[in-house]
Amino acid sequence: MALYVQKFGGTSVGTVERIKAVAEKVKRFRDEGHQIVVVVSAMSGETNRLIELAGQINDEPTPREMDMLVSTGEQVTISLLAMALQKTGVPATSYTGAQIGIRTDSAHTKARIQRIETEDLRQDLEDGQVVVVAGFQGVDEEGNITTLGRGGSDTTGVALAAALKADECQIYTDVDGVYTTDPRVCSKAQRLETITVEEMLELASLGSKVLQIRAVEFAGKYNVPLRVLSSFEDGPGTLIIADQHEEDSMEEPLISGIAFTANEAKLTLLNTPDVPGVAWRILGPIADANIEVDMIVQNVAPTGNYTDFTFTVAKGDYKQTMKILKEQVLPDLGEGELRGDDNIAKVSLVGVGMRSHAGVASRMFRTLAEENINIRMVSTSEIKISVVIDEKQMELAVRMLHQAFGLDKKDPESE
Ligand code: ADP
Ligand code: ASP
Ligand code: MG
Repeated sequence: MALYVQKFGGTSVGTVERIKAVAEKVKRFRDEGHQIVVVVSAMSGETNRLIELAGQINDEPTPREMDMLVSTGEQVTISLLAMALQKTGVPATSYTGAQIGIRTDSAHTKARIQRIETEDLRQDLEDGQVVVVAGFQGVDEEGNITTLGRGGSDTTGVALAAALKADECQIYTDVDGVYTTDPRVCSKAQRLETITVEEMLELASLGSKVLQIRAVEFAGKYNVPLRVLSSFEDGPGTLIIADQHEEDSMEEPLISGIAFTANEAKLTLLNTPDVPGVAWRILGPIADANIEVDMIVQNVAPTGNYTDFTFTVAKGDYKQTMKILKEQVLPDLGEGELRGDDNIAKVSLVGVGMRSHAGVASRMFRTLAEENINIRMVSTSEIKISVVIDEKQMELAVRMLHQAFGLDKKDPESE
């Protein structure tokens, strides 16, 4: 007998029929004698619908009220799933994040789980109940409902699995595992049997939304066996494994996956004085506004006394960053010219195999050059290379790089 935490995403509970199908799947596991905790997302599209509703009423709603609002989506699916399970003869009880004791900090809309009280949960499991928990939400010290950021039900699932020391956390979604890149963009993407935590962390943080980054962090930190599988068909899915030993890494493919995102914007300050402290004077006010900066490039301009400073932020922070630069930074610097571009995309190659091989960057740049794709920024780490390009060329770049690095599956028709 095993203890599984099974998380079902929005598409998997998107209709009444699908909720019934989830109940059948959970029942099969329970009939085999396993203990099951189920975590569900809101029905697909529901969280977006709620966010749009808020926007029709107030264009700057407080984060607390946003959490109050968007957490309702998951309350619908937990109760419907519990009813569906009961209908099939399986005793089930649904709980909100607060009821089950998912304690978070108070950072509304991006709260972090601090601890989970598992006593009642364990008791329910001992009593033979399937426990159905609302994903994406928790409660802070003051009793306010919080949410964990978009895609946060994954994190609820993995955190519960860690707290309960579950045998496996299974993330059921609308694809049958983690692919070499988003199969919706590249039809030749291949499912990976396994991927290391380290690589999955990079892919998630560079834009692959198949798993929320915090979920992968939890899995790594607490050694939670984590698997991504299809809700709709049976199969082994993809197992997220602990990092490989150094001696195995020679056999690693050069690149394991390609991530991409169009969710960033680029800001450039041209001709700013090249003096000590300039980066701090530009980025200090941005950090004070709690805006996260991603890539940063500082050029040396030909005259020597001036420099160009470029960085990227999330698209949602673009307007506010522009405003801060205009109103606080430019007057402080005394000189400089501001440019912005929110039609950019970041495409990244990820692979632990890069550690032991040279030439990844040059092959990447050559592939992009052959497609006439202009590279605007580059950033590298031990196991990834990211480039910023024009948003319109993002999907083409992904497909060409996928092919160039030998990731295409052999015959897409026969699979
Ligand atoms: P859920 O609602 O189940 O949480 P998500 O939409 O959040 O599902 O995540 C699944 C989606 O992630 C897939 O439909 C796919 O388009 C996308 N995706 C992006 N990158 C990858 C990848 N490397 N492998 C698999 N899916 C990916
Ligand atoms: N419903 C939330 C969202 O759409 C959480 C999740 O699906 O994981 O982001
Ligand atoms: Mg998701």
